[in-house]
Amino acid sequence: RGGAVPMSGNQTISRIPFDQALDAFEPVLGLETHVELGTASKMFCGCPTEFGGAPNTQVCPVCLGLPGSLPVVNAMAVESTIRMGLALHCNIASWCRFARKNYFYPDMPKDYQISQYDEPLCFDGYLDVVVATDDGPREFRVEIERVHMEEDTGKLTHTGGDTGRIHGADYSLVDYNRAGIPLIEIVTKPIVGAGALAPLVARAYVTELRDLMRSLEVSDVRMDQGSLRCDVNVSLAPAGEPWGTRSETKNVNSLRSVERAVRFEIERQAAVLSGGERVVQETRHFHEDTGETTPGRSKEHAEDYRYFPEPDLVPVAPSEAWIEELRATLPEVPSARRARLRDEWGISDLEMQTLVNAEALELVAATITTGVDQGAARKWWTGEFTRIANEQGVALEDLAVTPAHIARVEALIADGSLTDKLARAVFEGVLAGEGDVDEVIAARGLVVVGDDSTLMAAIEQALADQPDVAEKIRGGKVQAAGAIVGAVMKATKGQADAAKVRTLLLAHLGVEE
Ligand code: ADP
Ligand code: MG
Ligand code: ZN
Repeated sequence: RGGAVPMSGNQTISRIPFDQALDAFEPVLGLETHVELGTASKMFCGCPTEFGGAPNTQVCPVCLGLPGSLPVVNAMAVESTIRMGLALHCNIASWCRFARKNYFYPDMPKDYQISQYDEPLCFDGYLDVVVATDDGPREFRVEIERVHMEEDTGKLTHTGGDTGRIHGADYSLVDYNRAGIPLIEIVTKPIVGAGALAPLVARAYVTELRDLMRSLEVSDVRMDQGSLRCDVNVSLAPAGEPWGTRSETKNVNSLRSVERAVRFEIERQAAVLSGGERVVQETRHFHEDTGETTPGRSKEHAEDYRYFPEPDLVPVAPSEAWIEELRATLPEVPSARRARLRDEWGISDLEMQTLVNAEALELVAATITTGVDQGAARKWWTGEFTRIANEQGVALEDLAVTPAHIARVEALIADGSLTDKLARAVFEGVLAGEGDVDEVIAARGLVVVGDDSTLMAAIEQALADQPDVAEKIRGGKVQAAGAIVGAVMKATKGQADAAKVRTLLLAHLGVEE
């Protein structure tokens, strides 16, 4: 829960450089991931779940916790959770109950959250992830403790302070649209043995989990919209000693932040332990701007939530037949899909890893589906577009360019209507919102200077300007042709087809390639 214990302003936190920290200590990680399911209605009532509605317009007596209202379990949410559990190689409980987790908070009017406690629907699974190391890709098995169902709380907005936190705010607003949205929580067992790879393993795990849920179509898994949120637990201990005390950095909301939060906590805790102090068991907040974590709420004293079985709901008892039916209809998992696409496209593991790291795999796959050659699809997305997305600080998928744009541009390159250089200018226009491919070409006048007479005139001019080069080519030095081709390209403002210029030039001088 939110920051009751704020740090005073500019206090700097001592850290030990990462490599040095890893020489002295071994990290243990634990990741708790909350995912909002993409069901049409809420977990225990029929209210819609759409994101972004006007505050308190998607509510009813059940999700407002009014006395006498009764919850009913959303069957789709149970199905989605079981499918997730199966994809994570979990056991599925044949019988389990919901539990009330009692505490007070204004975004939760019942004063308890319906969750699962000692009887999770799915338990004991694993997810294999791959991280890139200097010695090539390395596979890591992350063991899953449990996958359980619960309901989300409402959303508080603290107004009037500088930080958006409750501390220093003048008043708080509450929106119950989110209250009762189905959530699944996926908790890992402690992850040991990752050593210096711990930040990468954490990131790879959340990435793989996200892709898995996307392939199952159980959630839109948008970290930026909060439909996937991650709590990052980290502890350190000298090698061979019992595990240390963990901190729990809450609600980390991007893949990069997961990696940075682990890294920061390793550096911070190493400094604490090296200074002879002890790590405080607490929640912490991650700050995107500084990459630091600051203390939240102490967890030194275990809260007693007085969990007890939810008396208003019947147990969930999925039949063996249903579970097997769901297992049989699971889609291809992302790792298998990557292996298949790698083979279909004839690319290497490293090339596939590059696409994955660039978050470009889905876009490349969609582009290839439109008929574009794999090499061209990969080139555009991991080259030009990745550079532009980085420059603008946006996700690749949020750029204005689509697979259909690439398909059109590649078709125009293939029939000689565009050169590579012109193609880049077309995309520049598309990205700037000047319209689709043909509109940009028309508006910017991007046409290949192709007719032979125009090109020949430019070639003759270039030969006249550089008589020494002309002489060399005539003498058989074909490599020298580049200088003339370059001059023609310049004269035509890059709108000529360089290969064609070269062919015309050599034919004109009567030189064989
Ligand atoms: P809590 O409700 O306190 O957050 P959970 O059991 O839900 O507890 O989650 C704790 C997470 O921290 C799990 O992923 C668990 O594997 C992990 N964990 C447990 N002990 C340690 C430790 N010493 N260091 C790092 N992570 C740990
Ligand atoms: Mg927790
Ligand atoms: Zn409702």
